[in-house]
Amino acid sequence: TLLTPNSPTAELQALDAAHHMHPFTHGQGLRDKGARVITRAEGVWLTDSEGNRILDAMAGLWCVNLGYGRRELADVAARQMMELPFYNTFFQTTHVPALNLAAKLAELAPGDLNHVFFASSGSEANDTNLRLVRTYWAEKGQPERQVIISRWNGYHGSSVGSGSLGGMKGMHAQGGLPIPGIAHIDQPDWWGEGGEMTPEEFGRARARQLEEKIREIGPEKAAAFIAEPVQGAGGVIVPPETYWPEIRRIVDEYGILLIADEVICGFGRTGNWFGSQTMDIRPDIMTIAKGLSSGYQPIGGSIVSDEIAAVINGTEFNHGYTYSGHPVASAVALENLRILEEEQIVETVRTRTAPYLKERFESLTAHPLVGEARIVGMMGSIALTPDKARRAPFAAEAGTAGLITRERCFANNLVMRHVGDRMIVSPPLVISQGEIDTLIERAWQSLDEAQ
Ligand code: PLP
Repeated sequence: TLLTPNSPTAELQALDAAHHMHPFTHGQGLRDKGARVITRAEGVWLTDSEGNRILDAMAGLWCVNLGYGRRELADVAARQMMELPFYNTFFQTTHVPALNLAAKLAELAPGDLNHVFFASSGSEANDTNLRLVRTYWAEKGQPERQVIISRWNGYHGSSVGSGSLGGMKGMHAQGGLPIPGIAHIDQPDWWGEGGEMTPEEFGRARARQLEEKIREIGPEKAAAFIAEPVQGAGGVIVPPETYWPEIRRIVDEYGILLIADEVICGFGRTGNWFGSQTMDIRPDIMTIAKGLSSGYQPIGGSIVSDEIAAVINGTEFNHGYTYSGHPVASAVALENLRILEEEQIVETVRTRTAPYLKERFESLTAHPLVGEARIVGMMGSIALTPDKARRAPFAAEAGTAGLITRERCFANNLVMRHVGDRMIVSPPLVISQGEIDTLIERAWQSLDEAQ
């Protein structure tokens, strides 16, 4: 017999431990203490198998932008499953949800980003990008342009291609990453790595590493630069204001393509439809996933410029996924976008929710453990430090202070994530002011307990 959300917690945990391997998790460590079983959710609140109500300040994994429990999305999925649950778009066919979603995304995306290649996740979409930019240059008669430059501590996914594009050293240490043809430069983390430089000097210096890297590999071999407008999984690293303008200058000067990975930043997270608008980036390609469907269905994609589409459409691009443009996922994504527009959620984030969250979140810097608070729209992080003036890290193994704080938060029924000594929030965009107050109170209490 199958277990249910009402089964005893111990039974649920035991069965989980017996058969379920968790991503990015020390399996034995989790087995020893038992996974917390999340059974249902509504708005910004999760419920666990013990009946606790937990404030989800991470929107799942930065994705449940509309919050939990939106019936419209469930209804659309059920309708679409009855009408056309699956059909592919490989062999000279299309279907209504995919074509409507592609057109809607072309309308929302800035500039000449008007063409969409679908996938089921951000990882798959970045794999598409990897092959797409190399194919683009080959079709343009510059097949030697193969090297893609990205950043240490950037995150672009967990497949072999996207994990190689990413700069997570823990991932590169296992399983043969990175694949050849990818080069990394340092991240614009002023708090952690800026030393004596001002943020402005540091932002320019880190951007110029791109130019140095292009020269090192040879400008004729450089294909593209990929980056998140604001690094998410790396710890919500908000770049200094000088960073992106300098990157844009270099990208233009050397004629390489710019890929903005909008998997977290897209669909309102930064207070605009896309992080590229907030940071004033003009990308040639955007990677999308997560907030595209508010996580209700697995869907991602690449939105590419008219110029790139014209070149790629001139050949047969031997690439695609069974679920590219999946009808149910596409229909749910379209409904999600409709709700975001109809309820003016992006505008509300920009004018009301994000300014309130910023004010309250920055008040955490009064806590003795908190060095800085950085926040853009609805994604922010605090840096924990034993010495604010020196911006010092904790001496113990990296991550300990963050880990302790995260565990205190979890015990206090607040989901915040930690990356090293940074603590992150990325709540559903629909979080209320009262819920933001609760978030800050629980975070403060957890910091007190972690001290
Ligand atoms: N790109 C960015 C910026 C991400 O944050 C993520 C996931 O966190 C991905 C890509 C990978 O997306 P997925 O986990 O859907 O494959």
